[in-house]
Amino acid sequence: MTLAIIHTRAGLGLEAPEVVVEVHLANGLPGMTLVGLPEAAVKESRERVRSALVNSGFDFPNTRRITLNLAPADLPKEGGRFDLPIALGLLVASGQVPPEALSGVECAGELALDGRLRPVTGVLPLAMATRRAGRRLIVPLANADEAALAGDLEVLPSDHLLEVVAHLLGQTPIAPHRSPSVVPTLEPGPDLAEVRGQHQARRALEVAAAGGHNLLFAGPPGTGKTMLASRLPGILPPLSEEEALEVAAIRSVSGLSHAEQWGVRPFRAPHHTASAVALVGGGSKPRPSEISLAHNGVLFLDELPEFSRHVLEVMREPMESGQIHIARASHERRYPAGFQLVAAMNPCPCGHLGDPRQACHCTAAQIPRYQARLSGPLLDRIDLQVEVPALAPEQLTSREAGESSAVVRERVLAVRERQAARGALNARLAGQALEEACALQAADRAWLAGVLERLKLSARAYHRVLRVALTLADLAGEARPGRDQLIEAIGYRQLDRLLKG
Ligand SMILES: [Zn+2]
Repeated sequence: MTLAIIHTRAGLGLEAPEVVVEVHLANGLPGMTLVGLPEAAVKESRERVRSALVNSGFDFPNTRRITLNLAPADLPKEGGRFDLPIALGLLVASGQVPPEALSGVECAGELALDGRLRPVTGVLPLAMATRRAGRRLIVPLANADEAALAGDLEVLPSDHLLEVVAHLLGQTPIAPHRSPSVVPTLEPGPDLAEVRGQHQARRALEVAAAGGHNLLFAGPPGTGKTMLASRLPGILPPLSEEEALEVAAIRSVSGLSHAEQWGVRPFRAPHHTASAVALVGGGSKPRPSEISLAHNGVLFLDELPEFSRHVLEVMREPMESGQIHIARASHERRYPAGFQLVAAMNPCPCGHLGDPRQACHCTAAQIPRYQARLSGPLLDRIDLQVEVPALAPEQLTSREAGESSAVVRERVLAVRERQAARGALNARLAGQALEEACALQAADRAWLAGVLERLKLSARAYHRVLRVALTLADLAGEARPGRDQLIEAIGYRQLDRLLKG
């Protein structure tokens, strides 16, 4: 045997396309040639593999001409994940491991110079693809729990190249990794019961959770906007198995831990100084950005007008499509980005416009300039806009606890079931589907048109009012929105008047 073929996988977004490592030994000028246009990191792999083999006591075929081919050539091949397949390919090609030992097997792992196996990123998408291919998977021990999340797959974890070879030679079989007990993390997040007062904002949070609506809180500092936003994941339905896997796969390719986060709805709160690359994606290493890390969860943008206008503009497209495309010379990566947006803002630069406790000292010119920083098209995608006023002192010290997250979540779950029967979250309904779901009575429709006209609200605002009214009807157990729901829904357009949106 002078030609060896080993199966492994590249990382391309959340996909893990197959890569075949071919190792050919020939007589001729000694040396090692890598083909398949691997990136610089793979060239470093050559040195690690050589040291790992020699330091583990294997023969390195020094006197032969070695050709290494990673096919297909045009896949990106960054990272150390190809070390182990290359090392095993050399062992097979040089007759130290029989080729049949690797049939039905895939492997990935970075080698230390002494032959120990180091974890690699993106193991979960890789393991899911291996499972679909019906093969077994050898991975570094530190990646075993993550690989086992892929489900019905034989995961063979190992700490050292010597262990892998002893297994392949049938000397000391590696016991398949028992999948970790992935019980959803039930550690309760922050609870709504801790929020004092703010009845309208709490109500809006529940409506947002029930219908999947994006939400904007506006109010002076210290009124609990962040406190409220961080409690949204706790009143959303639990992640489905499939959603949890998506979240874990995104964390996996980001190199973030998964175990303690399994089943937890993401809550991401990037700072307003975040760049477009960090928030939306791109850059030289196309890793998942904040909006992808918030997939199936909540993206919280505090001090929304402080974000650069450019950053907010580039968020529009992924908000529409629920995913982000990152174009590269030869490849396009696609990451999911289906998040729910909660934003917060002060009413003016100093924060105290309309605050009875403290006077606003902004100039007449500053206030409209500040508010105009919000992009209209972004506001168009925010169904709920709510003022969070400064609380009177007696409300702040009130001992009266609000409803707990668990109680609110029960109502949210019931409403989500009604929407599932209709086939879409209310926040996603538009055009004809929205009109049909609402089925307003003629009198209510005419009344609403008149109100919107008087308030000088746009046609787009009309649809946002309808979507929210439908969620309010669902919460009330009504078949369709009536006058009460329409009135409440119009109340959630407070900033339209302020911002003339
Ligand atoms: Zn001010």
